[in-house]
Amino acid sequence: MLFPNRIEHMEEDNADATFPHWIALEYAQMLKWAAPNKVIFSSLSPASVKSLCNRARKASADSSSCFGQLAAEQLAARGVSPDSFRAETKSVTDLMKEENVALDKVCLLDPRATGEIAPQDGKEFEWFLFGGILGDDPPRDRTGILRAKGFPGRHLGPIQMTTDTALGVTSLVVQGGKTISTIQFVDHPTIQFDEHEGVEMPFRYVVDDKSGEPILPEGMREHLKADMDRGLDDF
Ligand code: SAM
Repeated sequence: MLFPNRIEHMEEDNADATFPHWIALEYAQMLKWAAPNKVIFSSLSPASVKSLCNRARKASADSSSCFGQLAAEQLAARGVSPDSFRAETKSVTDLMKEENVALDKVCLLDPRATGEIAPQDGKEFEWFLFGGILGDDPPRDRTGILRAKGFPGRHLGPIQMTTDTALGVTSLVVQGGKTISTIQFVDHPTIQFDEHEGVEMPFRYVVDDKSGEPILPEGMREHLKADMDRGLDDF
């Protein structure tokens, strides 16, 4: 059974927006987590639709693309190809009307929902909806904008995750049959760049069972380091 995922892009996105690098890294990671299922990014500006599609096309042809430095074969190995996602300017509610999907068939992943996600939700819902939000520390409850539309919600535990981690955990539960209590997490990890420098991330991550490290989008560690170095240059 396929579990289409929907990412309602809710970050600043004006007409001439160049897609911020961290979003491209997170969005690429979602394709890997969701593969072979589809991911639809909605409510994007036309410029971002173009930019996201170009990056994905490039990613399938050239591994140096900035689509998270995902080498073409890594994308292919996970069944991720440019057609495994759609980038839309339409909102998720427009897409629901277009595809005749009822409100009660769309599960909003919501940190403030009362019910925890469970394997059987894969049978109950047709779409899984996430806020395409960077995430603030402390959270500002921007997911509330989607909650107000009346979607049934499920939470993934009490700690805020990045959108790509939230999608990955949802896939592990509704596709992989795991439960939140059987997934190994790490909270607020420090991403160490060398023995002196690191950055603490205000999120919960899934632990890679081989390396014991938090699973980050490909290229995110380098992006965080470059961001930190840029910050230091500004002093
Ligand atoms: N600051 C936002 C808020 O407080 O609503 C959270 C943004 S979070 C980085 C991005 C998206 O991931 C959320 O909109 C939600 O769909 C999902 N998400 C993150 N952590 C979650 C959790 N613990 N339970 C359910 N969904 C979560």
